Amino acid sequence: MMAKRYYRKRVDLFRLIDKIKLWPSRKGILHGIRTIQRIGDQAQITTHCNKTFMANDSRNSRAARWLRNKWFKDVCPVCRIPAWKLEKYSSTQFKRHYGSALLSEDELDKKNGD
Ligand SMILES: [Zn+2]
Repeated sequence: MMAKRYYRKRVDLFRLIDKIKLWPSRKGILHGIRTIQRIGDQAQITTHCNKTFMANDSRNSRAARWLRNKWFKDVCPVCRIPAWKLEKYSSTQFKRHYGSALLSEDELDKKNGD
């Protein structure tokens, strides 16, 4: 049985996808992310099936909500997401008051200094 992992509901979208490397498309297909390149407030995402698109860094975006709620109909057959990754994702929980916000070391230092 895989250990549950917890993230904050308010976790930054780009940090989250940088960690889990999964992207739910509008059609409800879960893709594997190959690269994420930040460009200002946006990111250029390339999936393993070679789709490239821009995404906004919003916790309230469709993709952020779908990721948190694990809404997807199918898994992309071309991306070939490994089973362990899907298992890890399904055991991931998003909590309001508990879990990692995936803050950088600087941000953690600042927080602890308050
Ligand atoms: Zn794909």
